[in-house]
Amino acid sequence: MDLGLTGRVALVAAASKGLGKAVAREFAREGARVAIFSRDQQRIEQAAREIREETGAEVLALTADARRAEDITRVFDETVRHFGQLDAVVTNAGGPPAGTFETLSEQDFIDAIELNLLSTLRMCRATVPHLKDRGGSIVTITSISVKQPLDGLILSNTARSGVVGLVKSMANELGRYNIRVNNVGPGPTRTDRILDLARSRAEREGIALEDALRDNAQGIPLGRLGEPDEFARVVVFLSSPAASYVTGQTILVDGGLYRGTL
Ligand code: NAD
Repeated sequence: MDLGLTGRVALVAAASKGLGKAVAREFAREGARVAIFSRDQQRIEQAAREIREETGAEVLALTADARRAEDITRVFDETVRHFGQLDAVVTNAGGPPAGTFETLSEQDFIDAIELNLLSTLRMCRATVPHLKDRGGSIVTITSISVKQPLDGLILSNTARSGVVGLVKSMANELGRYNIRVNNVGPGPTRTDRILDLARSRAEREGIALEDALRDNAQGIPLGRLGEPDEFARVVVFLSSPAASYVTGQTILVDGGLYRGTL
């Protein structure tokens, strides 16, 4: 299947590593031109170099903090100035810290909403004016927690649910411009975030890293963690003209971990 992405322009947020970088690389493999950003200039340039070397694609590396409104505006302006168009945007940011209702402060909730909900809203607001003439796609990266709250991650469970409401409302309102808006929720996926958590657990409990990772995979019907590329392929398909009649959806890439029927 041809995804129809050759020559299109995709902007992927928080992409120096992990899921964002895998998504950017997959766009590049499909022939898209890609803009990526994260907070650290050296790391984002390194990621861009790797993607260019592997795919030969044009990759623009920008430095910005997803929590800062002025950074978001600048990144979108620079992307459109550089490439002359924008076709697909993937919103993303780091995850909020763990904690419970009783251990976290009101400020912790405000910070999580800024990091995961307001950053998404701002990226969507910056995107829509560029897509209104020709149509295009927004995919938000959230978490399996939008369907099945995760223990100890009340900040993620709370802030990310707002993203789903935003996605569904935007899909309803912007379909008339042929702007599609979808949400993809990863289950446990083998990125630095998961590896770091498993490594500290392995050290703490004196077990092998692979054993700690195997424990993370317990309860997943496919019996293993996801790989970033497996996640990225779903995001890039949804972002592409090949998914032209799909909008307003939340798709989990979780190896079957979510236990609900719908
Ligand atoms: P990661 O730590 O491997 O990568 C995070 C990326 O985001 C890095 O490039 C980092 O530089 C960038 N980043 C972080 N904060 C930023 C900010 N304020 N502004 C700009 N860039 C920023 O994490 P990941 O595993 O790729 O996760 C990506 C998102 O998906 C996170 O929100 C995470 O909570 C969520 N998620 C991940 C998993 C998983 O298993 N990996 C599962 C569910 C949800």
